[in-house]
Amino acid sequence: MSDSETDALVIGAGPGGYVAAIRAGQLGCDVTLVEKEAYGGVCLNHGCIPSKALISATDLAERAGSAAEMGVDAEVSTDLGRMVEWKEGIVDQLTGGVEQLCRANGVELVEGRAGFVDPTTVRVDGGADAPDRIDFETAIVATGSRPIQLPGFDFGDWPVWSSRDALSAETVPDRLLVVGAGYIGMELSTVYAKLGSEVTVVEALDDVLPGYEDDVAAVVRDRAAELGISFNFGEAADGWTETDDGIRVTTETDDGETPAYDADRVLVAVGREPVTDTLGLANAGLETDADGFLPTDRQGRTAVDHIHAIGDVAGEPMLAHAASKEGIVAAHAAAGDPIDVGDWIVPAAVFTDPEIGTVGMTADEAAEVGFDPVVGEMPFAASGRALTTGEADGFVRVVAAEDGALLGAQVVGPEASELVAELAFAIRQRATLSDLAETIHVHPTLSEAVMEAAENALGQAIHTTN
Ligand code: FAD
Ligand code: NAD
Repeated sequence: MSDSETDALVIGAGPGGYVAAIRAGQLGCDVTLVEKEAYGGVCLNHGCIPSKALISATDLAERAGSAAEMGVDAEVSTDLGRMVEWKEGIVDQLTGGVEQLCRANGVELVEGRAGFVDPTTVRVDGGADAPDRIDFETAIVATGSRPIQLPGFDFGDWPVWSSRDALSAETVPDRLLVVGAGYIGMELSTVYAKLGSEVTVVEALDDVLPGYEDDVAAVVRDRAAELGISFNFGEAADGWTETDDGIRVTTETDDGETPAYDADRVLVAVGREPVTDTLGLANAGLETDADGFLPTDRQGRTAVDHIHAIGDVAGEPMLAHAASKEGIVAAHAAAGDPIDVGDWIVPAAVFTDPEIGTVGMTADEAAEVGFDPVVGEMPFAASGRALTTGEADGFVRVVAAEDGALLGAQVVGPEASELVAELAFAIRQRATLSDLAETIHVHPTLSEAVMEAAENALGQAIHTTN
């Protein structure tokens, strides 16, 4: 097809790119969104949504099958094929919704792979209906990330799974070896343990979920062990061989030992890397940093002023909600209507059993930057609502400055991913411990634990010792 022109070109339709395109359309820009694979990106198709669907389904099964204490006796069986089919239905509904929303906001959709020809033009390798070249005034690069391929573990080989394979498998491996106990390793180990796999995890570092505090990670690790997941820390996976009845994965310890594990499949989840290699960055005058990410300023501008980068391709945190917010900021900047970014507060959640939800600083981080932090905690074991759900592991912790201004919070326990929203809002609003403690929370709810953690920091908790 012929060439075309646009005010704002967005490359990649993940939660960064499609949100940026819709906002640019709302701001009156003439917007074109180029996507090479599927609307919704990794998040909707192979990441957040598929994983949360399988987490919910397997959690339901596990809970139903272990609720005898509540007077519930159930014989539960699971069918991964049907679970995956159900998950695909949700994905189709959401990706169809993204396409419709883009069109409703005047976004021109182009199917194909975009690469820069020069600083104001991309070439598109696409179908017959796609333009060959698009000239643009501003561009937003939102090409996301892909799983890091570990040497010795080729994703093309039959026993080696990426997270994408694990989320679309139709049969449950009897023995699953998981490499990496980060976000993906922990979420998907839990899914497969609840489906009945014998799950073994090897992790190069000395605990699960690097970056999370020891006592937070410990709650998740202990529950995972209860589910039958076995952990091997301080071991880096370095290869696999075929055996008579499956595969043997070898690892290497810091002391040079080489343990081996028999398995049927190996899920490699050792991090994700940005997708920039087919973008022709040099043609646009762009360079990545040493880790392959596109560096940007707070408005998402790259070193080439009219080209923005957002989401996973622009670096940590590699989270969908951060990508979307960066998309909104970049769309405003591209439309010539920049917004004040203010404090950049990004909550994070790990959808393990139980969940983790964190925002802002830990007590150690607060101390490192010069605060003398005030800390309060409320264990879920003392929450009436947590006990009535049968899930009372974990706690809410709040961290505040000397004057009570909230700096951060760590929640590990039931619905932590939801509970952290109130805490993120509180930090954004510069709320204090007293603001949280004086807000009346519905009884009996898990959110009362947020109020009580603040009361505890003030020495005023009723349901835990101060
Ligand atoms: P992506 O979603 O990666 O989208 C990029 C898009 O760009 C893709 O559709 C790709 O096809 C397209 N593209 C790439 N190159 C080109 C090109 N040259 N031309 C045209 N199109 C191109 N995050 C959370 O916040 N919560 C979660 O619960 C969560 N769970 C996850 C679970 C898993 C298993 C995985 C893998 C990730 C998870 N994440 C989660 C991370 C989240 O998926 C990413 O942070 C998010 O998708 C990043 O959005 P993005 O828009 O930057 O990129
Ligand atoms: P990760 O960085 O969270 O964890 C990777 C783990 O692999 C680390 O603990 C690392 O020490 C370990 N590792 C590296 N090489 C190893 C080796 N050779 N042998 C053994 N262990 C090794 O990465 P991930 O789990 O792949 O997830 C990628 C990203 O996706 C996350 O950082 C996050 O941004 C995003 N994500 C988010 C969510 C969520 O928000 N709930 C869920 C899934 C993924």
